[in-house]
Amino acid sequence: MKKLDFSSVCVREFPDNIKTKPHQLPIYATSSFHFESIGDAVDIFNGTETGHVYSRYGNPTVDVVATKLAYLEAFGTGLEAYGYLTSSGMSAIYTVVQALLKTGDRILTQGNLYGGTTELFLKVFGRQGIDCIFENFSNLDKVEEILKANPIIKLIYVETPANPTLDCIDLETISTLAKKYGVLTVVDNTFCTPYIQQPLAHGIDFVIHSTTKYLNGHGNSIAGVIISANPDFKKAIFSVLKLAGTNCNPFDAWLINNGLKTLALRMERHSSNALALAQVLESHPKIQRVNYNGLPSNPFHQIAKKQMKLFGGMISFALDASEKETLQFIDRLQLATNAPTLGDVDTLVLHPATSSHLNVDKDICMQYGITPNLIRMSIGIEDPQNIIDDVLNALEG
Ligand SMILES: *Cc1c(COP(=O)(O)O)cnc(C)c1O
Repeated sequence: MKKLDFSSVCVREFPDNIKTKPHQLPIYATSSFHFESIGDAVDIFNGTETGHVYSRYGNPTVDVVATKLAYLEAFGTGLEAYGYLTSSGMSAIYTVVQALLKTGDRILTQGNLYGGTTELFLKVFGRQGIDCIFENFSNLDKVEEILKANPIIKLIYVETPANPTLDCIDLETISTLAKKYGVLTVVDNTFCTPYIQQPLAHGIDFVIHSTTKYLNGHGNSIAGVIISANPDFKKAIFSVLKLAGTNCNPFDAWLINNGLKTLALRMERHSSNALALAQVLESHPKIQRVNYNGLPSNPFHQIAKKQMKLFGGMISFALDASEKETLQFIDRLQLATNAPTLGDVDTLVLHPATSSHLNVDKDICMQYGITPNLIRMSIGIEDPQNIIDDVLNALEG
C-alpha cells in the first residue's frame, strides 16, 4: 500500500496486536464485520462457514450473553437451549409471537398479564387477525374445554406468578394440556429468572424475559430474551428478529452480563427479604391481605412450592384503607422508591390501579384483585429490618 495521507490514517482501523485476552466481556461496538477474503465472505453469507456479518444479525457481545442466558434457563434439565437477545421484553414477546403465528390463529391467555403484553396482543396482533381468548388458568377444566372447542388456538401464553397479585399457574399441567391439543406454549419468566423457575423443565416450548428486571438487576438497561429447546422454530424466530430489527445492542447486552454475575446471590436475598416482610404484614391490623406465595396460607403456595425454588422478591398487599390513604402511604415511605419497574437491587413501590393497570378494564381489575387499596413492592437486597421498618413506619400515619 502506498504511503497514506494523514486524513486516510485517521479513517483506518489499526490492528489489535494485543495477545492477552480480556478478563471481562468486551463491547463490540461495530455495525459490521470485515472479511479476510471474498471467499470467506461468500462462505459466511451462504452459511457454509460461521462468522459475523452485520450486528443486526449477530454480534459477539450480544451472542455470548444470549448463549449464557439459554444455558442458565436449561441448567440441569439435560436440554440444549438456544437464545436470542432482543431490544426489550416487549420485542421478545413480539418476535416470538410473530414467528409462531399467522392470521386466523388464536392465542389462549390470562386476563392478568403484564399490561403491555395485553395491549400488544389486542392492538398489534389483533390488527393482524390474531385474536386472544382470555381465561383464568386456575380453572383447568375450563381451559381444556376451550382448547377442545377451538382448534384454531395455536398458542398458550402465560405468566406465573402474575403481576401484581402473584397468582400461580401449574406449568406441568399447562404443558401437558398443550401437547394433547397440539398447541405451543410461551411463558414469561421475568418475575422468577431461571434461578427460581425453569419452565423448559416442565415441557414449556418458549421462555421469554424482560431482562430489564431481575436478570440485569440494576435498572440500567432495557432488553429481553427468547429461549427455547425446540429447534423447529429457531429459523423463524431468527428471521423475524433479523428482518424486524428487534435485536439487542451490545452495550445493553454487556450490562446484562454484569448483572448476571450476582443473579444467584440477589435472588436469594430478594426472596428472603420479601418473605420476612410478608410474615410481618400478614398479622398487621392495617393490612387486609398479603399476596406472597411463600406464606403457607397463600392459595398458590402448593403450586409455587412445586415449581419454584424460592418465592421471589415481588409482593403485593391491600391496605385496610381508601385509595387516598393508600396513596398517602406511598408518600410516607422513605427507603422504597416509587418507580414503575421491578427487579432492581433497591426496593421499589407502585400503585397498580393508577399506573401499570390504569388502562385495564375496571371489572377485570376487580376480578383479579387489583383494587384501589393494593400496593405492589419489588423488594430489594437492602437490610431486611430497614425495609420492614420503612413499611411499618409508613403504615403508622
Ligand atoms: C417489564 C415486563 C415486560 C416488558 O419488558 P420491557 O423490557 O419493559 O419491554 C414484560 N413482562 C413482564 C412480566 C414485565 O415485568
